[in-house]
Amino acid sequence: MKRAWNTLVLAMLCLAAVACGKAFAEDRLLFSRDELLVGSRPVSQAYLGTLKEVDRTTATTRRIERAFARMVQQAKRVRPDAEGWDWNLVLVASDAVSALALPEGRIFISTEWVHRRRLSDAEIALLAAHEIAHVIAEHLRERVSTFAAARPGQKLTVAAVLRIVAEEWVLARELAPLMQAQEFEADRIGMALVCAAGIVPVRALTLFDKMTRPDAVGDLSYVRSHAGPLERKLDLIAWMQAENLACPD
Ligand SMILES: [Zn+2]
Repeated sequence: MKRAWNTLVLAMLCLAAVACGKAFAEDRLLFSRDELLVGSRPVSQAYLGTLKEVDRTTATTRRIERAFARMVQQAKRVRPDAEGWDWNLVLVASDAVSALALPEGRIFISTEWVHRRRLSDAEIALLAAHEIAHVIAEHLRERVSTFAAARPGQKLTVAAVLRIVAEEWVLARELAPLMQAQEFEADRIGMALVCAAGIVPVRALTLFDKMTRPDAVGDLSYVRSHAGPLERKLDLIAWMQAENLACPD
């Protein structure tokens, strides 16, 4: 019953946030998911080329794999069409970046970052769920669409938007308010996934205490996209209380 309720809350959140769910503002966004994936492929490939995957032999890598699989399973319940998406976990050894997501469903998590901060399974789950939330809420699609919609005369493609933003990064600053809103939204959707998986939220919330710096990573990393960890934690707690999110305790 609790889980069914959580799925309902999450679905409502998705609608309210105009985020996940097939019906969400398809017409409001300039580009389709397919256009986004094709247009962003060169950026994704270039990014992938800069990373070195780690061997999946340690206890940490196995714990991350388990948490990722568990969270993807919940994400598919919220967005059934995500069943066929290209979900994929890439483990890297960087301490500069904790985790990030590419729009097709490829999630990067740093084993080094997780290991150094001694993240618990619940904390790893929230870390993964936050990134998965960016994917199911299609945040990059929303950003690229917003940028292009502000320049209707230019008839920009996805690839053109990404190129412009990469070359004239100062232009991406106009997206900062949207990106910050998306980060809070990813925290909320992520926590709802964590709860739906039967994880006690207070065990996951300590993730924010282990983030010692603003976690501004991603394809537009030169913009301050994430609020501070404490601000995020407090926002999330307030939201959970306001929504009366049914979580295990
Ligand atoms: Zn994020």
